[in-house]
Amino acid sequence: MKDQTTKEQQDRVLLAQLPTPLERLGRLSEVLGAEIWMKRDDLTGFAAGGNKVRKLEYLMHAALAAGADTVLTSGALQSNHARQTAAAAARLGLKSVLVLAEAVPNRSAAYGRGGNLVLDRLVGADIRRVPAGQDAAPVITRTIAALEAEGRKVFVIPVGGSNVTGALGYARAAQELEGQASALGLRPDRIITASGSAGTQAGLVLGTAIPVLGISVSSSAGELSAKVAGLIAEAVQSHGFGDASGRAVQVDDSQVGPGYGQPTAEMIEAVTLLAQLEGIFLDPVYSGKAMAGLIAMARAGQLPGTTVFLHTGGSPALFAYDEIF
Ligand SMILES: *Cc1c(COP(=O)(O)O)cnc(C)c1O
Repeated sequence: MKDQTTKEQQDRVLLAQLPTPLERLGRLSEVLGAEIWMKRDDLTGFAAGGNKVRKLEYLMHAALAAGADTVLTSGALQSNHARQTAAAAARLGLKSVLVLAEAVPNRSAAYGRGGNLVLDRLVGADIRRVPAGQDAAPVITRTIAALEAEGRKVFVIPVGGSNVTGALGYARAAQELEGQASALGLRPDRIITASGSAGTQAGLVLGTAIPVLGISVSSSAGELSAKVAGLIAEAVQSHGFGDASGRAVQVDDSQVGPGYGQPTAEMIEAVTLLAQLEGIFLDPVYSGKAMAGLIAMARAGQLPGTTVFLHTGGSPALFAYDEIF
């Protein structure tokens, strides 16, 4: 055990406030007629919290180990991952460069400059916008080349921090959740999480035998399942998660609606319900759609036993959707 702790701390920098709470949602459970608990990863603490903090503990360790002085990542304009990466870079004294795509149509003025973008600017991120309809990949390539030409050592973090290194943060989170559940005498029948770039879901499957259901926020079930399975297979190869290789990858893509970042009536209902029943702020892009999936399943009688919903954070994006809420 001692050796394990030492090894873990060799693999990560410490950014998150852990463990995050595991709490029963009494009023929501009553309204839905299902036993619903929440793992509060909105409360990871660092830079407004959320799931990316756990991934960044491993990713930023890798950046430092590589001798980087600059981290570059990419995402949508209101990316929570970009905000958390830029804040982690600030904390560690590195420069951050964010390549942010204007990929979500029909948004308000606040979407284009409020929400997470306020926090990105505040931590000093160098923001490069990719106009709607243009591909981010060549911008990323050109930006890296230009930074290297200036003599910078750039560490590139993929979209959502979703590679095997990032997923290790969620293998660890799953183990943390198992420990908390067993201390409470709780036997969860499933974990439900928002799933976008696949790293959170893959990490959870690596870390626990409790069935994990990912609610897709962008891709089709087939596409996202393949991504999750690919990350799991890679981690089994490289990090010895042998037990995980037989585990199911389950994705529900019924909540995507018109597309990534685009509101649905079900998301608005879910975000409103959690605020008004529990005083908990979900987000419009990820956890709101995931909770909409949970609510639909509960109403269809598909959640027997105990369900743990992973709150992945993202509430700063609410301020970018001020025309709805
Ligand atoms: C990134 C993100 C997710 C999805 O995590 P992935 O690992 O990309 O699947 C869920 N919720 C929030 C709030 C996020 O920012």
